[in-house]
Amino acid sequence: MSRKSLATVALVSLGCPKNLVDSERMLAGLALGGFAVTTDADGADVAVVNTCAFLDLSRAESDQHLDALETLKRRGRLGRIVVAGCMAQRYGRQVLQRHPGVDAVVGLAGRDELAGICRRVLAGRRAGERGRSNAARQRAAGRETRRAKYHPVRGGSPNPPRKARSAPAALVSVGPHAAAPPDDRERLRLTPRHYAYLRISEGCDNRCAYCAIPEIRGPLRSKPPGQVLAEAEELAADGAKELILIAQDTTAYGRDFAADDGHLAAGLAPRAGAIADCELRIADLKKRSATNPAHVSLPAVQSAIRNPQSAMEPGAASLAHLLGVLRERVRVRWLRLMYTHPASFTEDVIGQLGVRPLVPYVDLPLQHASDAILESMGRRTGRAEIESLIARLRAAAPGIAIRTSFIVGYPGETDARFEELLGFVEKVRFDHVGVFVYSAEAGTRAAGLPDQVPAAVARERWERLMQAAERLAFAAAEARRGQVLEVLVDGAEESGRLVARHAGQAPEVDGVVLLAPGTAATGQFVQVRITGAEGYDLVGEVEDSSKFQVPSSK
Ligand code: SF4
Repeated sequence: MSRKSLATVALVSLGCPKNLVDSERMLAGLALGGFAVTTDADGADVAVVNTCAFLDLSRAESDQHLDALETLKRRGRLGRIVVAGCMAQRYGRQVLQRHPGVDAVVGLAGRDELAGICRRVLAGRRAGERGRSNAARQRAAGRETRRAKYHPVRGGSPNPPRKARSAPAALVSVGPHAAAPPDDRERLRLTPRHYAYLRISEGCDNRCAYCAIPEIRGPLRSKPPGQVLAEAEELAADGAKELILIAQDTTAYGRDFAADDGHLAAGLAPRAGAIADCELRIADLKKRSATNPAHVSLPAVQSAIRNPQSAMEPGAASLAHLLGVLRERVRVRWLRLMYTHPASFTEDVIGQLGVRPLVPYVDLPLQHASDAILESMGRRTGRAEIESLIARLRAAAPGIAIRTSFIVGYPGETDARFEELLGFVEKVRFDHVGVFVYSAEAGTRAAGLPDQVPAAVARERWERLMQAAERLAFAAAEARRGQVLEVLVDGAEESGRLVARHAGQAPEVDGVVLLAPGTAATGQFVQVRITGAEGYDLVGEVEDSSKFQVPSSK
């Protein structure tokens, strides 16, 4: 098929890095499915919005994008609109009610079927328009598109559109969560080539009282270590020098494998993902026994074939084990750990932080510091445990950068409890702090709690905490003056200044290191002397770029 005849799809990716990974997979699926991917929805045949539904603000952002796309569509400059991701999964019916121009709603399990869904919505349009194949032609002809008639393609939607009343013409593909974690290989990456997100599990079992994510993303499903390793190797081969480990809760990694063991003990089948990983190990055992029979005994192979779980090494079901495998086997310069839970840190994980290529950095969302609030949130840690954990992290990896986030205005947050949080932030002096105003999410325990905090009070607390965090961050940036740090160059500002990060800065969420134009290349590691600070950002000078060429191995 010539490129000219390909239908075009524009994808808008919203939300967190987990959603970004899904967007990258969607783009690859669309490209492999015969679509030309474009960055501009104006003139595209289909626009896909991969939405976020974490907070009311995230949903408002998704709505804004959909409003703009509906305007384009009404003007004949866009063919079809498809809504995917978290908002489609949880609020599919509301999306169709609020956005009558939407042609399809696709839940999380439909991620890898997007090309087929786009073909279906386009086929509907073509049937109505007698072969007009793209929005540009519609615009030229000055004709509005007609909505096609579809029936739901899958059952099980938690929020199916009401028959004939809401949006009878839309295609709805929202089903239950997949039993296995997603396979994130073969992506069309949206990050710069030199860093990539590596999702190690999907879903969450923590059930924090304020959080709707387990409802949206489903229960914890860890990827077997073999699958994570395969994905990491693919990303490294594709040019990633930094891998950023993500999940809803990375420290929960592997807990569901233990549940599989329970299943086995009870005579039930383990999950397909666990079997797949064991099969990988069996293949490895077989190979080793063929090349060196003395190394692996035949009975070990036979036993592994009879009971695949016996091929799993002791301790394999843990983040510490996974980190060890990745550190040993994947050839990258930096590995970064995000989205940890303070209640789930083990000494084995703490001991690896800062041991290359694992950088001395941790993202540790704490949410609050008052024991009463933490207990109400169901966070399984009190202030004393949190302070002890931070002390252990700092002792194990001196200079470790700690990022955290807090929620203000949670039900029951009195003035005194908020002041305690403020004092805690002043005392601990985090490297990076994010603050969210509590948002009552439908269906969560916290939404039904008494003592909800008025919005104006929550907003004022947000401002006070942000000001304190900003003052501390600016002072920390100033204190870096004179330090020599290894940085990775991400790109350049419009002015030409280079934008880089040191190991204590994650992409998009933390500050950056600014360098003079032309002093290093994108994707290059260089040694930099910090000469000043601009707010959250550092300013530096390249010391000797020859010593820090992009590595071909770790
Ligand atoms: S750890 Fe808590 S806040 Fe994070 S996704 Fe799980 S339930 Fe939500």
